[in-house]
Amino acid sequence: MKQVVSVRDLEEMLRAGKDVRELPNDALLTPSARDFLRELEGPGTYRTTSVHQRPPAAVPPVNSKSSKKEIEAFFNSGQINELKSQICDIGRRLWQRAYVDGNGGNIAIRVAEDIALCTPTLVSKGFMKEDDMCFVDLEGTQLCSGNGKKRTSEILMHLQIMKRQPRAVATVHCHPPYSTGFAVAGIEPPTCMIPEYEVFSSVAIAPYRTPGTPEMGKLVADLVDKHNTILMANHGVVAWSHNNLEDAYFKMEILEAYCRTVLVAAQLGKPANTMTATQLQDLLKIKQSLGIPDPRFGLKECELCDNDEWRPGVTCALPAGATIRSDAAEEPNAETEALVQAITDQIMSGLK
Ligand SMILES: [Zn+2]
Repeated sequence: MKQVVSVRDLEEMLRAGKDVRELPNDALLTPSARDFLRELEGPGTYRTTSVHQRPPAAVPPVNSKSSKKEIEAFFNSGQINELKSQICDIGRRLWQRAYVDGNGGNIAIRVAEDIALCTPTLVSKGFMKEDDMCFVDLEGTQLCSGNGKKRTSEILMHLQIMKRQPRAVATVHCHPPYSTGFAVAGIEPPTCMIPEYEVFSSVAIAPYRTPGTPEMGKLVADLVDKHNTILMANHGVVAWSHNNLEDAYFKMEILEAYCRTVLVAAQLGKPANTMTATQLQDLLKIKQSLGIPDPRFGLKECELCDNDEWRPGVTCALPAGATIRSDAAEEPNAETEALVQAITDQIMSGLK
């Protein structure tokens, strides 16, 4: 488990006469602790301690064609053991947040050119042990495991994502109820409502196919060029990250919290406010600088906050001053017509 360091921890270290620069390299600093350190150390000396900013580990000289002995040695190395415990940790978080049910959900990390570390089949994600993990090649053939457990039956989808998206280093699949609700309804969550969702998520829906089949994996893989979070129709969600496993998991938290918030907002009896297309452009610039894909890069502003699918009838928002010919303008409804007629009648009678 990584150590989370708060301002209070840093203050205590200083009080005890300790050097705050002696934190473990993988310690996670809270935002205020980071500011505190920055102030303490002066500008330009801020060290990157976030897991998101660490460069990926060097590719080990092992691949699926290496000898069984070499692969097993790699499987039992400190580097892989650390990743096994990270998978157990993320599995616990998925289970505690009720993003998985029964034996549902699975996780994979690309650890070499054509080897992935993944979760076993038929084990709750909340109660996995390091020894339960398996190595597979990119075709899904199991290379080794800690205690003989078989790899997850949905591994093909993870591997197809990795093959199609070379930047994908980690994948997480689970069944979070609110997001899965959208997947069951076949509705992409509306956009332009919350910054985190706009910056970190890029969502699309893949059609339903039987879980675990190559066809399912292909339909998901077809979307990962421009999307990092795929709603799987009538099933669940899968997300990939170009950073690390925790980042792929964060995509689940962000999507699930967003879907929940959108549903709450939809029940408040008033149409939700949305940010403007210009405001969204600013967020998309941040997204692009973080290396996160989005099919909207380069789109015209009027195409950015179009939530047609969520609220049928909402049309592409045009910048102020633009002329728009809407159906409503061409075919005024009976109420409007009656109102116009009443006003006209009033004016005409005043002129008599
Ligand atoms: Zn599933």
